Parts: sequence; structure tokens; C-alpha cells
Amino acid sequence: MTLTEKILARAAGKTSVQAGDNIWVNADVLMTHDVCGPGTIGVFKREFGKDAKVWDKNKIVIIPDHYIFTADSKSNRNVDILRDFSREQGIEYFYDVIDDQNGHWVFDAVKGNMKRQYGSRYAGVCHTALPAKGHTRPGEILFGTDSHTCMAGAFNQFATGIGNTDAGFVMGTGKLLIKVPETMHFRLEGKLQPGVMAKDIILHCIGEIGFDGATYRAMQFDGEGALNLSIDDRMTIANMAIEAGGKNAMFEFDSRTAEYVDARVKLNGTKSTYEPVARDKNEKFVYELVVDLSKLEPTVACHPDPGQRKKAKDMDMKLDRAYVGSCTGGKTSDFVEFARVLRGKKVVIDTFGVPATPDIVNDLQSTYWGNSTIWQILVDAGVQMTENAGCAACLGGPVDTFGRINKSGIKCISATNRNFPGRMGDKESQVFLASPMTVAASALTGKVTDPRGYLGN
Ligand code: SF4
Repeated sequence: MTLTEKILARAAGKTSVQAGDNIWVNADVLMTHDVCGPGTIGVFKREFGKDAKVWDKNKIVIIPDHYIFTADSKSNRNVDILRDFSREQGIEYFYDVIDDQNGHWVFDAVKGNMKRQYGSRYAGVCHTALPAKGHTRPGEILFGTDSHTCMAGAFNQFATGIGNTDAGFVMGTGKLLIKVPETMHFRLEGKLQPGVMAKDIILHCIGEIGFDGATYRAMQFDGEGALNLSIDDRMTIANMAIEAGGKNAMFEFDSRTAEYVDARVKLNGTKSTYEPVARDKNEKFVYELVVDLSKLEPTVACHPDPGQRKKAKDMDMKLDRAYVGSCTGGKTSDFVEFARVLRGKKVVIDTFGVPATPDIVNDLQSTYWGNSTIWQILVDAGVQMTENAGCAACLGGPVDTFGRINKSGIKCISATNRNFPGRMGDKESQVFLASPMTVAASALTGKVTDPRGYLGN
């Protein structure tokens, strides 16, 4: 069996499964957020009764993160629905925006977008917050009401996005009927060259197979090249499996995984035991690709979908704005590489920076390079940095969302993960996906730029 099949077989109580089998699996964690949480709760109450209790209050994680820093009252109300439900059900892992358990969330537009407006428990973007708060464990099953739930495949976990109806069912029963996906094999060899990042690996792979090339399939990344990648890099790659239509992503378990997971579960007092899965000799793959990481170059996915691959060096296209943020590209390591390119220089187009979580804001504001913090280096370079960590303009959002594209014709280079028309706002705008380094170099020149000529620092 492949790694994915092994986890699914165990979760179904079977000795083996194969691609195409329909099986009932037990969930270890169900995650939802402010956009899909109210709908999921509605389905749960409708189907199980208004006084029903969730299947396991310690296995439900609720993370408001999407439409948070907006004056849109309906979006604010969604956070209140999550708070009421968490209180009613005794759900501990609700990462509220505010500290007052009986309060109401209202974004203060007068204070503006840049200064933090959240309480001490707010966690930021769900997929980045889940592992950081100790909710991702090797060998487990994670369902989430968000397509990028596949990011937790970085931890040798079966993690996939589901709709509100399925999530309402999981909320009531802890189970879900799923079809075992076929597995595609991506063997990574060698090491990335300076100026090339994990984002370039996944943009390369999606470019090979197209934006629907992995539809309802597992994408397994392994080999020496994968084991050499940091956990953040693995998260970037796993995150974008869905951009090729993938059901889930999967990495092998190793000492880096153990170190990361063990530290986070200890810090947060979450469940500390887990059972990873290891590779068999008899894996059956439906597709195989060997990627020599040393040959990859800075890559861009052009408008209008993540499969439109080009090399940055072959493009000479003018841009209007640059954006770094999201679960894919808003981690501390992403901002470090972004800052390395921008240090001591000035951007020439509107450039926005949105850290994925409050902890990342703190990292950037407390790490000094010489006399300046990384945060200050970015501000000095002209980047508009917000402390309000969250999804922000990654998926457009209400019109007052920080960094949202509100004008047609804008061309934006972005470290986010999705670029279908209208993704970051206006339907007539265009989004070009790239690594944080490529975004930085492009922000310095105002056109798509290969970052390898800007690695001086
Ligand atoms: S940052 Fe973007 S991709 Fe990630 S969860 Fe938020 S909206 Fe989705």
C-alpha cells in the first residue's frame, strides 16, 4: 500500500485497502473556520437536532481566520456564531478573535488595518495555526472545511478538505465515507539552488500535470530531496496539492517531522501520541515523476490558473502590485527570504505583507538583523505590513479587506496559492503565483523578475 492507503486502511479498521474502495473512516480531527463553520453547524443542527452534542468536543478545532478584519457586519457575526456554538458544546479548541467569551466581534475600521485588533487566543490562518497549535499528528485523519486542508500532508497525515454537509455529518458521528484515491508519485532528488524555493517545486509539478492533473488523487512526495526539505517547505508543497485537484498530499515521516510535532503538542498540551506510516516495497502508483531539485529555476504560475507555468527569467511583464501572505506564503521562513531580497532597497509597486499568524508577526518583530527587525526592514523597503494576521486578500474578501484588488486590470504577483479569475478581488484582475523571493525581486523592478540576481544580502 501507499502511505495514503495505509492510513486510510487503519482508520477504517481494515488490514488493507486499494484505490477505488469505498470505506468508512474514523476522523481524528475536524477543523472548521468562520466561512464554513456557520454552515456546518447549521447542517449538524438540522440533521442531528437542535440539542444534539458533537461526537467529540476535544476533536473539533474551530479557527476564525478568513473574513475577520472587515467592517462587514455579516462576517463579524459569523465569528459570534462560532463562539456561541463552542460555548454551548464545550469546545476548548476555539481560537477566538476576542478574549471576552460573552462579547461580540466588531472590527474597528477607524483604527485601520495595520495595527493588531485581536485578543490573546486568536491563531490566524487555520492551516498554519493547526500544526503550530499541536493539532496535526502523523498517521491521523484530518478533515477540514477548507480545500487547503491538504497542507497537513506535510506531517505524514491524511488531510483533506470536505464540504459543509460532510462536515456536519462528521461533527455528529466522527465518521465519513470516502473513496480511496489513486496515488501519484513525485520523487524529489538533489537540492534546491540559491534563489529557488519550495514554491518553485510545487509550481513545477503542477505545471507538469495541469491544474486538474491530480483530480481525486493522492500526491506523494518522497525521496532524498523531500527529506532534505524543512517542515515549512513541505507545508508549502502539500498546501498546493489541491491546485492540481489532489485529494491529499503525503510526505514521509522522519526526525524533522517528529521534532516539529513533538515540540508543538508539548507546548500546547494537545494529544502527544501518534503512529506514523512508513513506505512499503509494494506501493502501486498511477503516475511517477522524478524531479531533480538542483535543475529547478524560479517559476511563475500565470493567470488564469495554477498550471500555467513559465520561468521567471523568460517573462518580461509589467506588474501593478506584489503580495506576500497566506497559509502557503505567509510563514516566518517566507518573510525571511522575502526580506533577504528587499533589505536595504525600495519596492517600486504597491507591495503588501500579511503574516499568516500572530506568532509570525511576533517572530518578525522580535528578530533583529543588525539594528533593525525583519519587520522594520520590510517597512523601510516600502512594504505595507499588517499586524492583522489572517487570510486577508488571498481570497479577495469584503471590499475593505487589506490588500484586496479593487480595480480591474491590475496585475499582481503573489506568494499565495490560487489564481483563478477574481481570486484576490476584481474579476478583471490577474494574479501570478510565485515564491516570496520572486515576489520580492519583482516588487523591486515592477515586472516579473528572476530573484537570482538579487541575492546580495
Ligand atoms: S490563506 Fe488563502 S488559501 Fe489559506 S486558508 Fe486563507 S483563504 Fe484559504
